[in-house]
Amino acid sequence: QATTAPRLRFAPSPTGFQHIGGYRTALFSWLFARHSGGTFILRIEDTDLSRTVEGAVSYLIEGLKWLGLDYDEGPVVGGPYGPYYQTQRKALYQQYAHQLIANGHAYRCYCTPERLEQMRKEQEAQKLPPRYDRRCRFLSAEERAALEAAGHSWTVRFAMPLEGETVVHDELHGDITFKNADLDDAVILKSDGYPTYHLANVIDDHLMGITHVLRGEEWIASAPRHVQIYQALGWQPPLFYHLPNVLGKDKKKLSKRHNAPSWDTLQRQGYLPEAVFNFLALLGWAYDDKTEIFSREELIRVFTLDRIGVSGGILDPDKLTWMNGVY
Ligand code: GLU
Repeated sequence: QATTAPRLRFAPSPTGFQHIGGYRTALFSWLFARHSGGTFILRIEDTDLSRTVEGAVSYLIEGLKWLGLDYDEGPVVGGPYGPYYQTQRKALYQQYAHQLIANGHAYRCYCTPERLEQMRKEQEAQKLPPRYDRRCRFLSAEERAALEAAGHSWTVRFAMPLEGETVVHDELHGDITFKNADLDDAVILKSDGYPTYHLANVIDDHLMGITHVLRGEEWIASAPRHVQIYQALGWQPPLFYHLPNVLGKDKKKLSKRHNAPSWDTLQRQGYLPEAVFNFLALLGWAYDDKTEIFSREELIRVFTLDRIGVSGGILDPDKLTWMNGVY
């Protein structure tokens, strides 16, 4: 692995307008790609059509442009660089979903939304975590054939091992162990034929040769599923870096309450992209205890992943204002 140049990606879902913390994630990946002579890819994870927000992709791209975060590849060879859109890669995910079924790692689930809703309600009433009861995993061949013949629609679920543990190795947090019994048989292909995040994310990270996955720590809970899918497909997972959350001045996870500025508000308020770039780089990364002002070139030169902090960076608007004065 040491001989391949790092390949990184930013893989947002266009389910809302990208907040400043998301740009921080993109910026870390971009900086490390540039530092190491590697590649930075933009991939739009847009397969959840019901949650896609109109205008989210163009907003995202404009912000990346403003910050100067360019990307290196796209779906058309020799064509304009990216982004990749997962909705344009549907057939690929279906192919792997079928391979997983053929290898016994996934199965068709014919349960109706009504049945699933009923199950969820009962579990809620009993204070149990919501979990699919795996009825379709253990259907007999005859039952399955009958459901097929009746033309029931189906989803594909991943068959999690029923026992044992899954270890997620994270470069920042070390080994994180999950009990398989606590993990659900997640849907990986929906009845509309689109993959869910888990399947599409793993397949693309593998096929795009991603070596380092940098993403928010809210994805740690999904990582054991990903590790299981990698294993089931016989693939090596990338190196995971689940980045500590960006925090507000009160050291709480950034939320609406903090009223964190978005890139376009900052632009309208006259902030320079250089200042915002520098500010974002220091949200959870530090070169030493003292240096705070870096040019883009300096950051590219010194940005290594071992200097990412394990506690979240604190978003302090006063500091941003101060930095803007310097630029
Ligand atoms: N699509 C996910 C998101 O919206 C990507 C998470 C990841 O980077 O794997 O953040």
